[in-house]
Amino acid sequence: MTGDELVLLAPMEGWVAPISETPDPVFAEKMLGDGVAIDPIVGEVRAPCVGEVIGFPSSAHAVTLRARNGAEILIHVGLETVALAGEGFQPRVRLGARVAAGELLLTFDLDHLARRAKSLMSPVVIVNGADFALASASTGRVTRFGEPLMSVRAVGSASEAAPAEGEVRRRGVRVGLAHGLHARPAALLAREAGRFGSEIAVTLRGRRANARSAVSVMALGVRLGDEIEIEARGDDAADAVEGLAALLAKTEASGEPPPPAPATEAMSASSAAPASPLSTLGGVPAAPGLAIGAAVRLVEPDVIVRESAGALAEEEAELSGALRATAAALEQRRAAERGQGREILEAHMTFLEDPDLIAAARAELAGGASAGVAWRRAIGGYVAQLRGIADPRMMERAADLADLERQVLLRLSGETASSVNLPDNAIVIADDLLPSQLMDLDPTRVAGLAISRGGPTSHVAILAAAMGVPAVVALGPRVLSIEDGALLVLDGDEGRLQVAPNQTEIAAAQTRLAQRRARLADAKASAREPCRTADGQRIEVFANLASVPEAAAAMENGAEGCGLLRTEFLFMDRDIAPGEAEQLAAYQAIADALDGHPLVIRTLDAGADKPVGYLPLGTEANPALGVRGIRVSLAWPELLRTQVRAILRVGPAGQARVLLPMIASLAEIRAARAIIAEVAADLGAAAPQLGAMIETPAAAVTADLLAAEVDFFSIGTNDLSQYALAMDRTEPQLAAQVDGLHPAVLRLIAETVRGASQLGRPVAACGALASDLAAAPILIGLGVTELSGAPGAVPELKQLIRGLSRAQCREIADRALAQTSAAEVRGLKLGGAGARARAGALS
Ligand code: PEP
Ligand code: MG
Repeated sequence: MTGDELVLLAPMEGWVAPISETPDPVFAEKMLGDGVAIDPIVGEVRAPCVGEVIGFPSSAHAVTLRARNGAEILIHVGLETVALAGEGFQPRVRLGARVAAGELLLTFDLDHLARRAKSLMSPVVIVNGADFALASASTGRVTRFGEPLMSVRAVGSASEAAPAEGEVRRRGVRVGLAHGLHARPAALLAREAGRFGSEIAVTLRGRRANARSAVSVMALGVRLGDEIEIEARGDDAADAVEGLAALLAKTEASGEPPPPAPATEAMSASSAAPASPLSTLGGVPAAPGLAIGAAVRLVEPDVIVRESAGALAEEEAELSGALRATAAALEQRRAAERGQGREILEAHMTFLEDPDLIAAARAELAGGASAGVAWRRAIGGYVAQLRGIADPRMMERAADLADLERQVLLRLSGETASSVNLPDNAIVIADDLLPSQLMDLDPTRVAGLAISRGGPTSHVAILAAAMGVPAVVALGPRVLSIEDGALLVLDGDEGRLQVAPNQTEIAAAQTRLAQRRARLADAKASAREPCRTADGQRIEVFANLASVPEAAAAMENGAEGCGLLRTEFLFMDRDIAPGEAEQLAAYQAIADALDGHPLVIRTLDAGADKPVGYLPLGTEANPALGVRGIRVSLAWPELLRTQVRAILRVGPAGQARVLLPMIASLAEIRAARAIIAEVAADLGAAAPQLGAMIETPAAAVTADLLAAEVDFFSIGTNDLSQYALAMDRTEPQLAAQVDGLHPAVLRLIAETVRGASQLGRPVAACGALASDLAAAPILIGLGVTELSGAPGAVPELKQLIRGLSRAQCREIADRALAQTSAAEVRGLKLGGAGARARAGALS
């Protein structure tokens, strides 16, 4: 500080230009405030001074900091970047965080922005210009982080003006701006408000902002379709209200630049008509099914947290009370849940008691924070960390913590989660959805979920599937501009959302829906009958399991056994590996639930998408290509020995079989087999049936060699697709392309069957393709004789197979092998008798 001046350090690295050179009149004409613009060369934004983060929109494209002297500094990364809706931005701190000078605030993908943003020029401006002015700035040079950039000094406070008197006028306005009141419209609004003498406020759901403060207006988070109220008090109140309402209408009519098309968005062939730019959006399938319904946009306002702290003991008591109440509510809900919903709630209860989290909150309380601020900072730090890890699953777990953050804050604030009155057949649209928000929705009214972000393995996706609600995620930001009430057709199998379909399209969707319902009811009624093709070939339909409750559900659905027990559920999210007794108890419980039917237990498939914290795997540049699956078991043979001992002790003898994951060479099978033989000899047990998973192209093309050492193969189509196509299966952007029906994957499956048949080994499929009705005839035609799919898929699979003939399956498989893409394979129709009857199932 020089005299009364505060020196601000460079928050970004790059060329510094005068603000007037910004290619955007809102910034160039200093409507938002005075400052400079930086053309960044590094994708980071750091704090220019000590301060508090007072503005951080969910799109994370801009951050506002309040310095200790009260100056408010907005750093806006690029121009018109709000339209990216967070794509390419990674917040590193939370709203409300107190930060040190130089602390990392956000990171962004420079290349991505260079391609998608109007300009990279990033304004750094003082937004409370009534109280602070730019004293000096050093422009026309390259700056590095932390170098002095500009200085700010306090000026006479405009806020000391006497409160306005006179008439009060109010008016409600529905915001029609695609991106709501973000920086530019907020600045225009603030400038317009400055023309009137009246005091003017903008209110959204009970939260109020001074209309002259663009930052306060931005902080309201007003979105497209929100109803705001403009209130003016003073002599020119009527003119002020009308003036601002007219400005909003004009801004809307003049239109904002259209947002760039998101990568996940695809226009269907029929959507080329110019009439409806949103006619079909493409996303990633997250829960199967078809829904026709009305759009309901779910917007959860931020919870307002009391900032001022009382005595330490009071704040501690308040936080403990809120944590206890949240835990009790979770417990109540857990008791009423079954299956995966229950497990997710259990995980949330564990997070709530996390000692590090509690310690972090206590430290904040001791430092003088109120209960709400302490909780927000403590858990917010973890959310930011998880979001910062370049692993989609970790980011999805951040949503779980964000959910707990919200639940506890709601209790502290005394607010209740806004209850949404859903109409019947609601298709809920959300930017992201937290598990508790989904559980709060009336399941009898939710027809489907259309989510802008999210991933197919998020807890919301799992819950939606368990609730039988079709869901599509990663639809991109344009889904948020769909009007409430718009008619939608959501296809959870294909990952598509059709907006405002015409009469013909509606009729087609209704027919498909009716056929689907009838088929499901039929399939369920005959689920327990045995499964043979129409011409008598036996095809076994098994279920993939990962927990005890699922086994019972699988049996109810007519599964003939478990073709894949993913034992990682016992090994993950804990500090040490489970012992033999614990494993035996879990395996035995599942074996009992299967009532004597075969149980194929896969040995630990740790690594990559299935992290196990206590294994010292070290940092791997490419975990999917690193020490994983069988490689882990052979690197820690004691782990394998213990697991095999537990498996071999499951009774009755022979019910449990052993399956080895991620096999790439014969030597691995031999090494594992030797350990299994030792354990069996030690226990005096017979050697179990042994299978190898075919998940690597190496295993597929050497299946003839591997067949000599195993009793059966099971094709993991998820990993086989990932490795054949060189596409990360956990990457949401690629989710639509990692399709096991790609002819390259099908050729590897054909090769596996060819190799296996030389020694008469049966081949099963147990990846996602095995639950896919479009894939079943092709897999059977290629020679697969067992499908192990999701428990819920079993009835329909069995019903479909009963209507197929071997000739039909072989014919479609042959045609599939000759196609050039998965899309072409998916476009094939079954030939021969009975094909018409099943066309619905395959289209
Ligand atoms: C597969 O890769 O297809 C498979 C069944 O194993 P997981 O999905 O558990 O990796
Ligand atoms: Mg796998």
